[in-house]
Amino acid sequence: MTGDQLVPFVFESLPVRGALIQLTRAWRRMQRDHDYDPLVRETLGHAAAATGLIAHSLKFTGSVTLQMQGAGPLSMLVMQATSQLELRGMATAGNPVAADAYPELFEDAHCAITIDNGEQPYQGVVEISGDQLADSLKGYFDRSVQVPSHLALVSDADMAGGLLLQQMPGQSVLEADDWQRLGYIAATLRGAELSQNSGIDMIRKLFAEDDVRVFEPRQASFRCRCSRQRAGEVLKMLGEAEVQAAVAEQGRVEVTCEYCGERQRFDAIDVSRLFVENTVSGPKSLQ
Ligand SMILES: [Zn+2]
Repeated sequence: MTGDQLVPFVFESLPVRGALIQLTRAWRRMQRDHDYDPLVRETLGHAAAATGLIAHSLKFTGSVTLQMQGAGPLSMLVMQATSQLELRGMATAGNPVAADAYPELFEDAHCAITIDNGEQPYQGVVEISGDQLADSLKGYFDRSVQVPSHLALVSDADMAGGLLLQQMPGQSVLEADDWQRLGYIAATLRGAELSQNSGIDMIRKLFAEDDVRVFEPRQASFRCRCSRQRAGEVLKMLGEAEVQAAVAEQGRVEVTCEYCGERQRFDAIDVSRLFVENTVSGPKSLQ
């Protein structure tokens, strides 16, 4: 009884709030057009859960983009979630990947988290450290969000999930022992168990000793915001000469979205029109 959802909750007697996310259909859809190595897939699933949890905490309509980039076997990973919990993401790596553990996936890499409220994007860059993405994100919560947090992430082929606990700023004092205890509990989150239980049941099981108030679950989903117009912009960036050469050779060009697999085809007439428009259009607007 699991689905694509996020369950917010608070502790009645501790100044701590939490959210538990479970992604099943959305997570499988994200992998549909890719053949990921299990280690890459696990990291991508962790990224999906973490990005959804961060997006849930946004106080405005906007989006979160988590991007990992480097010279290691996992050269790029991008995960985006809107404040409506619409997610998309992909990773670029070999299969099999030349790594046996998370730290080996990266070399000279960094992880950037961009919060976009439609006006002034804000970016926090964190070091990639520890044994899994949750360790790397600890630095983000400490420095950029500046709210003490516990984060646990799990994923396999069928499910990606996560649990975020955050101290509530300006609330009553939280004993160090209590905070540590909640951290230990969060770290016991396991994918197999999360796959078997609804989010609400899972929260009740984990925090059986605490008085927890659970709120209405929020629906999450897979959604790609690609369009023919954006595909056209990609071609414009390649330049007219290169695109015309491809059309001359193959009769058309095709742009495939790496997130959802959708293909946009442009024939000779489409391409001519695209570059004519380019010469008469006004200043390039931001995406
Ligand atoms: Zn797409």
